[in-house]
Amino acid sequence: MLVVMQSHATEEEVRAVCARIEALGFRAHPIPGAARTAIGITGNSGAMDIGSLESMPGVAECIQVSKPYKLVSRDAKPENTVVRVPAPCGDVTFGGQAIAIIAGPCAIETREQALTIAEQVRHAGARLFRGGAFKPRTSPYSFQGLGLAGLEILAEVRDRFGMGIVTEAVDNESLDLVEEHADVIQIGARNMQNFSLLKRAGRARKPVLLKRGLSATLDEFLMAAEYILSEGNYNVILCERGVRTFTDHTRNTLDLSVIPAVQRLSHLPIIVDPSHGTGRRNKVLPLSRAAVAVGADGIIAEVHHDPDRALSDGPQSILPGEFARLVEEVRAIASVLGRTVG
Ligand code: PEP
Ligand code: MN
Repeated sequence: MLVVMQSHATEEEVRAVCARIEALGFRAHPIPGAARTAIGITGNSGAMDIGSLESMPGVAECIQVSKPYKLVSRDAKPENTVVRVPAPCGDVTFGGQAIAIIAGPCAIETREQALTIAEQVRHAGARLFRGGAFKPRTSPYSFQGLGLAGLEILAEVRDRFGMGIVTEAVDNESLDLVEEHADVIQIGARNMQNFSLLKRAGRARKPVLLKRGLSATLDEFLMAAEYILSEGNYNVILCERGVRTFTDHTRNTLDLSVIPAVQRLSHLPIIVDPSHGTGRRNKVLPLSRAAVAVGADGIIAEVHHDPDRALSDGPQSILPGEFARLVEEVRAIASVLGRTVG
């Protein structure tokens, strides 16, 4: 259910409607828009009698939202959400006119490795640095990440290069630590339906980068985002990172057609991960170009200065020089679309 307020409704009227919704045992989510405020209603206490809300001062109409997701839907908020990430070198936005770039290794391996890569990707134009301190690996015998020591290295990258930090939380305990150290909390593909982790991310005060699950449908992807918004965190960036198909020429199949599909249904920004999406270094550049052409709000790419010796995802990591070229080509394509990179 969605309560649409009149364009001239006062803040007091919005507050009164929210109070009535909460008094009825539901949760109210005021969503300010350019023209008017909408109030999303969530909760599982059964059907709601809308009669008492429709007659309240300032209310234009009450709409039954037929989609299973409500807060992430464009019905709740027709205009794009712009997620702002305050990095030391300046705010980076997702969902506006600018295309955001996140770059760095799959995993933080050593201080030298992270600082070397950070310096080069920063020089090439990236303002957000990625790198896992907690790694969700298929094998328990593979490198699991440096944990807190990795987060401390990321903090040094932040201080030295002014870059904002994007790093993954794999469970509720690591989320506490990641929330403290990072600028964006990444929820990985394997955790897209870890509902307790999604709820915890919804209570975090940092933006969340939510990756699509390995076999998630569009509805499942948006419902995962709904979990985060329903707990009060509206700063969610979606990420297409490839899904499992029968192909064997790539690690996954990068589903670029999901970008316009998401944009039609949801106001949330969506970016593309061409690294996990293909699993092959030589496909990262062409699919980054395609991602921008199809309308993605950003790119997250794995970059390593010595990929043959990387402790994870070396075959899909591009070299710093290749990343510099990626930024230039993405910039050229963005300009055709009236967008910038930054
Ligand atoms: C990653 O970004 O390194 C990662 C593990 O991604 P995904 O969850 O998409 O596999
Ligand atoms: Mn990786």
